[in-house]
Amino acid sequence: MSYCCRGRRFSVCLGLVCLVLVSVWPAALKAQAEMQIGVLAFRGKQDALERWSPTAKYLSQRIDDHGFKIVPLTLEGMRSHVEQDKLDFVLTNTGNYVVLEDAFGISRLATLKVRHLGQDFTQFGAVIFTRRDHPALNRIADIADHTMMAVSRNAFGGFQMAWREMIEVGVDPFADLERLRFIGFPQDEIVYSVLERRVDAGTVRSGTLERMAAEGLIDIGSIKVLGAKDSDAFPFLHSTRLYPEWPFAKARKTSEELAQRVAIALLQLEPDSTAAASAFAAGWTIPLDYGPVHELFRQLEIAPYVYLGKPSLTSVWREYKGWISFSLAMMLLLMMMLALIGRANRRISQSELKFREEANQRRQAQELLAKHKDELEARVAERTAELAESNRLAQENQAQLAHISRLNTMGEMATGIAHELNQPLTAILNYSNGSLRLLQKRGNGDSELHEAIVNIGNDARRAADIIKGLREFIKRGEHKHEHFNLRNCIDSAVDLLHPRLDQYDIEVRINCTDDVTDIVADRVQIEQVVVNLLVNAVDAVGAADQPAKEIGIDIVSTDSGAVAVAVSDNGAGLPANVIEHLFDPFFTTKSEGMGMGLSISRSIVEAHGGTIEYLVDEAQRPTFRFTLPIT
Ligand code: ADP
Repeated sequence: MSYCCRGRRFSVCLGLVCLVLVSVWPAALKAQAEMQIGVLAFRGKQDALERWSPTAKYLSQRIDDHGFKIVPLTLEGMRSHVEQDKLDFVLTNTGNYVVLEDAFGISRLATLKVRHLGQDFTQFGAVIFTRRDHPALNRIADIADHTMMAVSRNAFGGFQMAWREMIEVGVDPFADLERLRFIGFPQDEIVYSVLERRVDAGTVRSGTLERMAAEGLIDIGSIKVLGAKDSDAFPFLHSTRLYPEWPFAKARKTSEELAQRVAIALLQLEPDSTAAASAFAAGWTIPLDYGPVHELFRQLEIAPYVYLGKPSLTSVWREYKGWISFSLAMMLLLMMMLALIGRANRRISQSELKFREEANQRRQAQELLAKHKDELEARVAERTAELAESNRLAQENQAQLAHISRLNTMGEMATGIAHELNQPLTAILNYSNGSLRLLQKRGNGDSELHEAIVNIGNDARRAADIIKGLREFIKRGEHKHEHFNLRNCIDSAVDLLHPRLDQYDIEVRINCTDDVTDIVADRVQIEQVVVNLLVNAVDAVGAADQPAKEIGIDIVSTDSGAVAVAVSDNGAGLPANVIEHLFDPFFTTKSEGMGMGLSISRSIVEAHGGTIEYLVDEAQRPTFRFTLPIT
């Protein structure tokens, strides 16, 4: 064989190999594209895989350029997988299909033909039932005010089908029942609960009762179906309309061509094939009308028509009235508590405010008190002193009143005495005058006797004048105003006491300034004052143990236009307890004294507008000093 011939044969072989590869390679590539079939695993993942894996295998065989894989999913997982475009096909229950169809545009390719108790069905329903011997329940409407049990609110065959029928006869299962209980799968428990009288009624998917009876679990004769419907093509007990069985659907992204091939394959599935048997089915039929399912959802205003219920406050109230009532009650309670707390807080704040205000006032008062304490104490002391002074004045006034009263009494006495003395004095004067005339007539030259009789007459006249002045003073209550020489007046007073001065050998020293000798006053009364002071001085000096006994009389004018007469002596002086009572009427330290001399003298001096006081002069001698206005 030539090289050329061998080369041509190699080229032909290579061309054939390339041809085979070109035709086989795309198919090989396509076989690796695995289609995801999402399956609702309502009885768990394993059950779903066992039930549907033969179908996936069947499809993979029939559609050799694709692989098919079962993806078991829960309801939520199914929704999220479809939403995220993770699935190519969907195999789910009737209700869920309608929801996903509405939300994500999946579309059915075929409807499952279920084989149950030896018969094939493409539809199913639900049965509402009670015990045969239940006396009150005979129709669906009778369930009102009774208890009922179902699978769950979202179970299509396990509750929603019955719910629709109940609404149609005017019974709202959420509002009109005594109690509605959802217990989930298995549905057998619902049947037992009804038969064992734990609830009045129940609802399960059609065929359940017959299966349980066939398994010997219940006596189907003890069951009473409420609202039983007759259907020639559907032999199982049911109370509801019939709805199509599970659909096999394609996702929106899946091509029509592949979908068509899958639909054909499903429709061609043999009833007795492994795939059909595993799915408890007799194969698949052309897709049924799922419109009644939409109607049910729309009527019940649930997904995908839940929005229909939104505007209806009534439906919200009907569905959630328990929670709403509870929430309202809690809100009310909360508001009441808040109101009470607010009120209590307000009261506490008010009390606190009042307390603070009072504390503030107390503090201010204390501060004010402290601030004015000294001032108040000073005022109290002042007031106390004033009170003491006014007490003293009151006592003094009382003493003066008593003094005046005694003077009045004395005045009355003196009037009587003066009247009585006037007679004997006049008689003495007459006798002395008569004696003088008798001496002259007899020519007796006894001059000493003559002088004595003259003196008797003078003294009697003087005594009569004194008594006369005293009577007038008492009678009028006022003194005479006459000009007289004060020095002469004092000399007369000294003369009057001459015998007593001589008796004690007392020297009287008189100092008088010239300018004050004439004054206007009642001469007799002023002479009386001087006599009183001289009598006391003589008594004092006479009683004293003094070698040289002296009485001084100083007459001076004062700066205030008055004349002052001071009578001093060198007697023993006056003790303090005597000084404070000197001018009190009837105060005397002498056994035969009357205690009226100084009291009367003060009355006379003060009646003339002058003053009288006791003092100790520069030579420490006791001195009585009185003043008189000159005019
Ligand atoms: P009487 O002379 O009747 O006692 P007075 O009123 O004249 O009343 O005098 C009251 C008292 O004052 C006297 O009793 C005497 O104790 C006292 N007294 C007055 N003058 C003097 C004086 N010059 N020296 C001492 N005591 C005097």
